[in-house]
Amino acid sequence: MAAILPPSMLGILGGGQLGRMFAVAAKTMGYRVTVLDPDANAPAAQFADVHLCAPFNDAAALKTLAQTCAAVTTEFENVNADAMRELARTTRVSPSGDCVAIAQDRIAEKAWINKAGLPTAPYLAIESMEDIQVDLTPYLPGILKTARLGYDGKGQVRVSTQDEARAAYANLGGQACVLEKMLDLKLEVSAIVTRVSAAQMAVFPVAENSHANGILDVSIVPARIAPALAASAQEMAQNLAEALDYIGVLAVEFFVLADDSLVVNEIAPRPHNSGHYTLTACLTDQFQQQVRAMCGLLPGRTDLLSPVVMVNLLGDVWKEDGREPNWDVLAEAPNAQLHLYGKKQARPGRKMGHFNVMAATADEALEQAQALKDTL
Ligand code: ADP
Ligand code: MG
Repeated sequence: MAAILPPSMLGILGGGQLGRMFAVAAKTMGYRVTVLDPDANAPAAQFADVHLCAPFNDAAALKTLAQTCAAVTTEFENVNADAMRELARTTRVSPSGDCVAIAQDRIAEKAWINKAGLPTAPYLAIESMEDIQVDLTPYLPGILKTARLGYDGKGQVRVSTQDEARAAYANLGGQACVLEKMLDLKLEVSAIVTRVSAAQMAVFPVAENSHANGILDVSIVPARIAPALAASAQEMAQNLAEALDYIGVLAVEFFVLADDSLVVNEIAPRPHNSGHYTLTACLTDQFQQQVRAMCGLLPGRTDLLSPVVMVNLLGDVWKEDGREPNWDVLAEAPNAQLHLYGKKQARPGRKMGHFNVMAATADEALEQAQALKDTL
């Protein structure tokens, strides 16, 4: 297929921080951008040429996207996959509605991961009360997760007995769930792959991720794991993209177990919070890759320019009376880059921004990043 070149109009479903960073990349590369998001203050709207301020399933807005955009992508997985399939009849859409449908349903997602020959935690798909009347011991102690709409640890209940698991399932109102065995995690890592076609793939260096209250807190790159293990995570991410015939940027989250084996946790059909380090530290960043993939351009090189640590800034860092954090020290640090998403309201747990710190080693970057965060 012919490459889509500037100044073509690119569309994105969703205008949060990922849409905003996509818009910046696309505009910098000479494209124009249309954002569909029902929020008048959507972070991406500040950088978009056109903001369609309408619900995601709004027929007129989708028609405008199809008619005015040379290609359309998404910044979150909970868009209507059917709307994406419908858009794809008249304009280029990546990733496909089929891939997004898989990523938004933990049951389909895990089945696909296993089908691609990759391991998941032992899990039971539960679509009705009947499904949970089997022997649950292989999955206990475990985590019951809603199949849909879970993120940042939401929609998850930890259970240790069969009775607890059944009660928790009933409590969730009988919606489809997976019961997943709780694994003993040594580390969590992620690998982000960009795929344009079978012959055209590029994978970013593996990030080591730590979470606080179920939300990504810090990414450390390169991950402090054996190079062979990192290479294996990269290869697994590429295999998965290949199995899905995926076009676009695909993030794959892994667990590293005590015996240094890798288990796939989940996937995201878009750039990922754990890939924000690429904005500072890679030859090409993950949002440029998203633009390149949707336009049918070759993925850019993913070389790591320096060890780097990314720190998420949640609303919790803002002052009680809504005042800004003390930016003075961080803003002046020569090896740090502050990135704010333009959100007006800071709320606990809300992703407001991040900063990247580059240093000679990942450990040094981590130490400096923690010291900088303490000044806020
Ligand atoms: P979300 O969509 O909210 O990111 P995840 O499935 O990634 O949901 O779970 C969030 C976090 O919970 C993971 O990053 C990990 O720390 C922990 N977790 C999830 N599943 C397991 C598991 N099977 N064993 C151990 N920890 C888990
Ligand atoms: Mg996750």
